Amino acid sequence: MQVSIEIATWTQNNHGLFDYESKDLKITKIIVENSMYLILNKDVVEQSKTQNEKCIGKINFENGQIYYYSNPKFIDSYVKLDPKYKQQLQVGELFKFGRIEYFISELNIGDKVQIAEDHYNLDRHIKSDKNKVTRQCKFCLMEDLEQVEDPANPYLTNLCGCQGHMSYVHYQCLKLWINFSNRITRKQTQNTVQYNWNQALECEICKVPLPARVYIENQKQPLQLIQVDKMDGSYIILEQITRQDNLSKSLIFIHAFGTNLISIGRGHISEVRCQDISVSRNHAHISFNNDNWWIQDQKSKFGTLRIIPDKLLIDDEVKEIQIGRVLLKIKLI
Ligand SMILES: [Zn+2]
Ligand SMILES: [Zn+2]
Repeated sequence: MQVSIEIATWTQNNHGLFDYESKDLKITKIIVENSMYLILNKDVVEQSKTQNEKCIGKINFENGQIYYYSNPKFIDSYVKLDPKYKQQLQVGELFKFGRIEYFISELNIGDKVQIAEDHYNLDRHIKSDKNKVTRQCKFCLMEDLEQVEDPANPYLTNLCGCQGHMSYVHYQCLKLWINFSNRITRKQTQNTVQYNWNQALECEICKVPLPARVYIENQKQPLQLIQVDKMDGSYIILEQITRQDNLSKSLIFIHAFGTNLISIGRGHISEVRCQDISVSRNHAHISFNNDNWWIQDQKSKFGTLRIIPDKLLIDDEVKEIQIGRVLLKIKLI
């Protein structure tokens, strides 16, 4: 067993977009017969037994199968979804529609809620520092004189850049301030409820951005700062993020009651609209079927890309993998 890799290199910086129809490409081909690192040398991808700082990924032969390994410390790798097939959605997956990034932050099939780990440093992780000083909530000005804390309404600290007694806030007071003061627009459609940040969600005093979730030390479940009205039954939460700034920008709650085909795109008929030129009018569809959530690309111009956090099995289908300005078409031969 070996793999053939057709390599297309876009000669200019492409700002994270790969124009699949472009003619301005350098195309080469390699055959990989053993485990090898893939090294980007100027515009050429070469295979090598040793890794260096320009390693974009690796082909690995293990237990009778062949995998592609990404090297996210250097550069992210994405697999392009084949528009011919639906792909099952998993919690924690990150997709790119054009330049726009979405993350499956919560997924529920049946009655088991799965919450994604904080892979992309979007959440705030804080320590609980009881008993150190008298804490006063900067919203309601109440002090915790008895040092007893309501577990449903803990004091949060170090969420933003505010120091000293200005750093304390009740969870419920902050949540109220975020959700009921015109900072978030709630829009309901047939299959979704969409929560868009009207303005940057940030501390009014120090202007540090606020997260959608907070984890308190030693607590497994995060505290949600966005009030999402969840309905019974299966759902997913699609979260638009910018990883560059470690920020969430909107939450889209998708339930399984409606027409069961949710279109994502730039066009006005799309239920989830992305106003970005890199998103196609009808870019991808999400659906719920056979107790699972699915996604299918709709032959979009820049593709629906799923991040490869670690490895991807190379099977009988050709895999198109995008890494910066490089596109690999990998197949078994
Ligand atoms: Zn308070
Ligand atoms: Zn602040």
